[in-house]
Amino acid sequence: MALYAELHRHLGGSVVPRILWRYFERNQADLTQRFPNYESFEDFYTRPRNTLDEYLELHTLVEKVQTAETLPYFIYRLMRGAFVFENLAYLELRYTPFLRTPEHLSQSERIDLMASVVEVVGRASQMSEYPIVTSQILCMHARLPYEVNRAIVDLAAQMPEYVCGIDLAGGDNHYGDRLDEFIQLYDNARSLGLNTTGHLYETPDGCHPALLPYLMRVGHGIQIPLKHSELLPQLAAQGQCLEVCPTTYLKTGTMQSIHELKVVFDRCFEAGVDIAICTDNAGLHNMRLPFEYESLLTHDIIGFDELQACQDAAFRHAFAWKHKQHPVSILNEVLRPELSAV
Ligand SMILES: [Zn+2]
Repeated sequence: MALYAELHRHLGGSVVPRILWRYFERNQADLTQRFPNYESFEDFYTRPRNTLDEYLELHTLVEKVQTAETLPYFIYRLMRGAFVFENLAYLELRYTPFLRTPEHLSQSERIDLMASVVEVVGRASQMSEYPIVTSQILCMHARLPYEVNRAIVDLAAQMPEYVCGIDLAGGDNHYGDRLDEFIQLYDNARSLGLNTTGHLYETPDGCHPALLPYLMRVGHGIQIPLKHSELLPQLAAQGQCLEVCPTTYLKTGTMQSIHELKVVFDRCFEAGVDIAICTDNAGLHNMRLPFEYESLLTHDIIGFDELQACQDAAFRHAFAWKHKQHPVSILNEVLRPELSAV
């Protein structure tokens, strides 16, 4: 049995449509009345969008219902599915804690509540029934003010028992005029010893080379091999890994066909740049991580050797995985004591 490490999964986008529908039926029946039946809801929830912005808008639907009270409900189901259906040994869950606090409170009250959200997520995701090694990535957000993003970085540094790194989300086409601010935030994060990833080079409008040196992993980064391959040797030299999420590019309109990914993998392998294959928003996509791998194989984008290289890369670049030197083939041996200790 192959085991997988998932490095890029959003807490909001990881709720599968059936679970969300059941939750609405039980708790917010008015929302289900917008749809004649479950199938029409699933179609609405999972269908491709024309742009990244339109796609990201869907996150707000889930963010609103993921509160401190309801997060354990969603996380329990997420971990159960990840263990039973995906063979995940390791999972980094990412989200913006500020967006899980009540909207009617003041900004400073919401900032104060972020730590309790992190704790709720941390406790809910560590369960002996589904023993996946798990940690959180806190996402700064392109649409949130500096003070909030700064507080997110500080919080990540204060809660290493639950948090393994930080991210920047919200659409890489929206960083433009605030680039200096985000550089400063990342610079501060690195000085605090935090691990860093960030959504970057996902879309043609999201190519910001000035941010690259601050990232240990690049969220997506597909525009680098596609349009800026001169940067690949620099990435290889710095050991930066791309978190490639194949289904996302079809759902956001960034790619028209999965075959466009072939050049991404070919150029990265040639240059020695690691790729971790990830789901991004497994629920929104109705997708499981092993099927992302299988789909790349069946479309002849990678072969079995490359598949294993990507599996290994995911464990090697995991922020909170303690056995980075072990290839997947002996993971089982390594994993047993790790899991029994959970
Ligand atoms: Zn993402």
